[in-house]
Amino acid sequence: MDHFEVRDYDAAGRIGELRVPRAGVTVETPALLPVINPHLRTVTPRALERDFGAEILITNSYILYNSDKYRERALSEGLHDLYDFSGAIMTDSGSFQLAEYGDIDVDTPEILSFQRDIGSDIATPVDIPTSPTASREQAERELDETQTALETAAGVDTGDMLVNAPIQGATYPDLRERAADHAYGTGLDVFPVGAVVPLLNDYRYAEMVDIVAAAKRGLGADAPVHLFGAGHPMMFALAAAAGCDLFDSAAYALYARDDRYLTVRGTEHLADLEYLPCSCPICTDHTPSGLAAHGDDRREELLARHNLHVTYAEIRRVKQAIRQGNLLELVEERARAHPAMTDGYRALLDHAEQLERTDPTRKSTFFHVSAESARRPAVGRHHDRLDRFAVDADTVLLTEGGNNDRFDETWRLKPPFGPFPRGLSKTYPLTAQVPNRPSRPAYEAAAEGVDRLVAANPDVEFTVGHFGWPASALDHLPERVDRIDLSEEDGG
Ligand SMILES: [Zn+2]
Repeated sequence: MDHFEVRDYDAAGRIGELRVPRAGVTVETPALLPVINPHLRTVTPRALERDFGAEILITNSYILYNSDKYRERALSEGLHDLYDFSGAIMTDSGSFQLAEYGDIDVDTPEILSFQRDIGSDIATPVDIPTSPTASREQAERELDETQTALETAAGVDTGDMLVNAPIQGATYPDLRERAADHAYGTGLDVFPVGAVVPLLNDYRYAEMVDIVAAAKRGLGADAPVHLFGAGHPMMFALAAAAGCDLFDSAAYALYARDDRYLTVRGTEHLADLEYLPCSCPICTDHTPSGLAAHGDDRREELLARHNLHVTYAEIRRVKQAIRQGNLLELVEERARAHPAMTDGYRALLDHAEQLERTDPTRKSTFFHVSAESARRPAVGRHHDRLDRFAVDADTVLLTEGGNNDRFDETWRLKPPFGPFPRGLSKTYPLTAQVPNRPSRPAYEAAAEGVDRLVAANPDVEFTVGHFGWPASALDHLPERVDRIDLSEEDGG
């Protein structure tokens, strides 16, 4: 794909450049696309560009297509003039309306031509968003229809307009993977993972992660991925770490309409807030009661602006974390905001091998901050390396303590990684900051590391010198390894 270039990776998250030729702009990803409803412009596109630095937005071409008020204007003026926005504009096709109402009055060639004619920069065919409640048979049948729509779209003359290739398949990872593989093969340009909104609304973040991971397996590394309908800042870090590049937010406006206030830890109702835990211009200038005192329209706009500030700030925080190589630390932080987010993070770690393929081998210091840290890709990578270590000694001490002359060699032993030669102690990830009281999974992961090294060196005698490891971790050690509990020794 010559329109998308990845500059930095962290886990499967990346900073990329999406070139949008028709708009003549390059959008840095991860990027947020605020949703513009042409009939309800809570915050105008012009204000999004000027006050929030929006480089791209999304609007629904099907609403314009059916609008007596805007259809002709969109065709004669073009979207960019109609919206007074100079960045990139993505358009949706009416698939959402199709899913809601069961029928729409356009097909893919017609709506794609309309999107081209109104000056859309990234258009969408009519795919079938299959509900997460769908049976496998329904999901397969509807995926066939989506795939036909994508093939049709690939044959439509769309000029230099980019075209989305949505990936469906409900909650069936194998269907999502197959759908992604097919979508990538069509030669279309951007890959929205579709119909995840019902999952996100139900806090089913673990399934969202499994679906994204499945889609990523079917796509090339150069495919820009859009998590369609994901606009809550709480889950951006998680979704970005799974490999999503684009997010769209209707939430900033929809929530504002209901007096709901977004934070990176969740959603609050304005009536429940005694303080505004935010430093954006709106929250600096107002108290909750001051906001509540405004009339409906003004209050909605102020809340929408706060919601946008929080949302854009989180996108920037995710990008900074990718650049610094501590995205997973940010994910761990966000995972504590809600048990369902913890599930999402645990699901992400189920795909640690997949993340490991793009995770940099050198980055900023690994912070071991939770039990889940023990399952991060860097730990698995170290264990894989231990499988290949040929130890050239008869007796080796693997220890959390100091060197000992009774052994031919002394190696360091550090949860959650396990053993490593002293010469590596200044290299990533072994420079990790680990609490003095590691979690049980961290000890167990270290024992797994010992097991891997011992298995690779059957003729070497190993002794583990540890400080009071729990029995569950000691049980993970191979039987032939001697153990010394250094905390029971004098001066230990
Ligand atoms: Zn604020």
